[in-house]
Amino acid sequence: MTKSADLFAQAKQHIPGGVNSPVRAFNGVGGTPIFFEKADGAIAYDVDGKAYIDYVGSWGPMILGHNHPAIKNAVIAAVENGLSFGAPTEIEVTMAEKITEFLPSIEKVRMVNSGTEATMSAIRLARGYTGKNKLLKFEGCYHGHADSLLVKAGSGLLTMGVPSSPGIPADVAAHTLTAEFNNLDSVREICKQHSDDIACIIVEPVAGNMNCIPPVAGFLEGLREICDEYNAVLIFDEVMTGFRVHKGSAQGLYNVEPDLTTLGKVIGGGMPVGAFGGKKEVMAHLAPDGPVYQAGTLSGNPVAMAAGLAALAELEKDGFHEQLTAQTAYLLEGVEAQAAKHGIPVATAQAGGMFGIFFTEASKVTTFAQVCECDGERFKQFFHLCLDRGVYLAPSAFEAGFVSIKHDRPMLDKTIEVIGEAFAELAK
Ligand code: PLP
Repeated sequence: MTKSADLFAQAKQHIPGGVNSPVRAFNGVGGTPIFFEKADGAIAYDVDGKAYIDYVGSWGPMILGHNHPAIKNAVIAAVENGLSFGAPTEIEVTMAEKITEFLPSIEKVRMVNSGTEATMSAIRLARGYTGKNKLLKFEGCYHGHADSLLVKAGSGLLTMGVPSSPGIPADVAAHTLTAEFNNLDSVREICKQHSDDIACIIVEPVAGNMNCIPPVAGFLEGLREICDEYNAVLIFDEVMTGFRVHKGSAQGLYNVEPDLTTLGKVIGGGMPVGAFGGKKEVMAHLAPDGPVYQAGTLSGNPVAMAAGLAALAELEKDGFHEQLTAQTAYLLEGVEAQAAKHGIPVATAQAGGMFGIFFTEASKVTTFAQVCECDGERFKQFFHLCLDRGVYLAPSAFEAGFVSIKHDRPMLDKTIEVIGEAFAELAK
């Protein structure tokens, strides 16, 4: 028995499902989750001493690779001054200035502790600001686990085979409307039906919780127009895409301005951080300036801010995102070449440093329905063939992959070689 398997058995005795977040349990791929001990750069080491090239990167935050010296040193220095004060600190001001500088659509920003808190608070603010109740989201998009957002959501819910969670009162879910991602007609239809009660549309501008689906041309622009028409708040949930797909995040990459943006993952450098922000006029409704309540004991935590700022300082460097994007493209070209060589039907998708691999005959995947039609059994086999050979992909066909700046050419070549071997096995 491996030490991972041993620890998993132990974990299951006192932790529900043996994990602190469902997708970690490997339900989507079968087998026993790997317990990690340490990581450096693009390599993660499990408790049995095996090394993996890591394409999960803590589900996105580790864009600089693990154990980055600038982040580590910033955290150590911050810890020396105390862990938390529950009172304002200078470093929160610096963080707010930095975020607003990177993202011009954000004039004011509030720090929180997770992506879930960010989206939950943004929705409340949108409702408080507009005085309307309904929120429109997209099937297969995941925005964290707040009640009103766990309706037809992606990510771990999909590997559990449940589109929505029990425990959410029907009258709460009734205020959540779901449309099809990349289908503006479905959005228009719903908005027409509820024309005077749409508070907001929330979208992952690149869907990353149903594998990886970039927006089709005109989709985000269309959402902007529809929100303007219905006086609804447009929320880009950039918890995953923020600073990953472009220096200016997805809104910079696709040149569409939301009213509110939610952030997380990368801006915490690996620490628990989230944020939401946007137009002054909307943010003015937030307590203590306005009546919409939102708070947090550890919000703006100085150690987390130090880690996040150290990460952002690296991302600011010239050419960072161009290099990350090129590395990701190189990986996908290699995957496609191997797929062609071994006769495995595969489609790929990319937005900056995030990517998707789909087992499908289709040349391109643009809808949630198409994702659901992909060959899930083949993905499971593929995942384990890669895992055995030291490549750690997300343990679910419904998650995007993440490349870090530390995935250099030899590491990408090694990955492509492993994926080629996996395809050869699948072709047998
Ligand atoms: N929004 C998006 C787009 C996400 O991908 C996630 C998490 O993966 C969340 C929100 C929730 O963030 P957290 O897990 O930090 O609560």
